[in-house]
Amino acid sequence: MRIYADNAATTKLSPKALEAMLPYFQIEYGNPSSFYREGQQAKSAIEEARIKIARCIGADYKEITFTSGGSEADNQALLTAAAIGKRKGKMHIISTAFEHHAVLHMLKKLEKEGFEITLLDVHENGIVTADEVKAAIREDTCLVSVMFANNEIGTVQPIAAIGAVCAAHGVLFHTDAVQAVGHVAIDVKAMHIDMLSSSAHKFHGPKGTGFLYARKGILLQALICGGAQEKSKRAGTENVPAIVGMATALEEICAGIDENAKKVAALRDKLIAGLSRIEHCALNGDATNRLPSNVNFCFEGIEGESLLLLLDDKGICASSGSACTSGSLDPSHVLMAIGRPHEVAHGSLRLTLSEENTEEDIDYIIKSVKEVVAHLRSFSPVWRDLVSGKQEHIL
Ligand SMILES: *Cc1c(COP(=O)(O)O)cnc(C)c1O
Repeated sequence: MRIYADNAATTKLSPKALEAMLPYFQIEYGNPSSFYREGQQAKSAIEEARIKIARCIGADYKEITFTSGGSEADNQALLTAAAIGKRKGKMHIISTAFEHHAVLHMLKKLEKEGFEITLLDVHENGIVTADEVKAAIREDTCLVSVMFANNEIGTVQPIAAIGAVCAAHGVLFHTDAVQAVGHVAIDVKAMHIDMLSSSAHKFHGPKGTGFLYARKGILLQALICGGAQEKSKRAGTENVPAIVGMATALEEICAGIDENAKKVAALRDKLIAGLSRIEHCALNGDATNRLPSNVNFCFEGIEGESLLLLLDDKGICASSGSACTSGSLDPSHVLMAIGRPHEVAHGSLRLTLSEENTEEDIDYIIKSVKEVVAHLRSFSPVWRDLVSGKQEHIL
């Protein structure tokens, strides 16, 4: 038996989306830029997809640009705001310490190009407030970029309040909503969002496709130059099947958004309650103001990587906050941002659910995590020191 509990990393393609995609590989395979009927049919398919997607977030279809996914959308949004800022002599950008690397690494690049970056601290509960954003805004601020929901700890930010602050100060507001689209109700107009990034494979659409919403009047910077696709803002023949699949998946998930959230949040709360009973552990991020799917814990005296390996052996797909990217053993920047010390940040576990998970899955996960944590602690020198009192417990 395999239990998939890593839906923040990627989701299973919806059967409905797959079905919608299939004709565009071998039947309706025309190039949308071609003049003849087959091309024009493909063109209509992507325009129909644009309308469906726009409707799901309260946008106009003209405000949707297709990208290769969330990272590209984030990059394009930031470069666009930077170009607008530069033209006006505004070279200050506000973001947060716990953004996705697609935002953080682009900000590093912009810093090298002369932009000043303010990364707001995140509270222990994993939330940034609108007042903190307001306090950081300066005369020369060209952009505020705050993620909608964090991909590691699942906390949902007060996006409408932050949007209102930005609108009142005439500052562009971008949100990386990759974890939120399809999972949390979004209305870009009501929330004063100027740009929003999204990725299909986080809401049961196909990988390698996403979109950027940019409010009317914002002239996007092209990252890829070439043909006139996407109003010359994203050259290259459109990924027609993926775009069709993305729109189908989004429409499907948005139709059931409340029902899914309720079901998944009940599973999440059961899982949180079960894991909380393990001694010397702590939930990361706010207990209620978080995505319905997200559970993230730190356990004292263990290594996240060993935990994942043993859970994999038990058939559970999970992930750790401490991604050892490129061989470095740096703890998660998100857990560091919410103030978890190194030692504990290394022992983290993220379980992200979907509507496919069952009560039985949750029972099995709780039982397995308990066993694995006890097993790892049984030969952990760190745990021995904690138990003997040589070292003090943090959690
Ligand atoms: C997954 C993710 C991304 C990157 O999206 P891709 O489509 O994989 O490029 C960006 N931001 C957040 C918050 C994510 O969870």
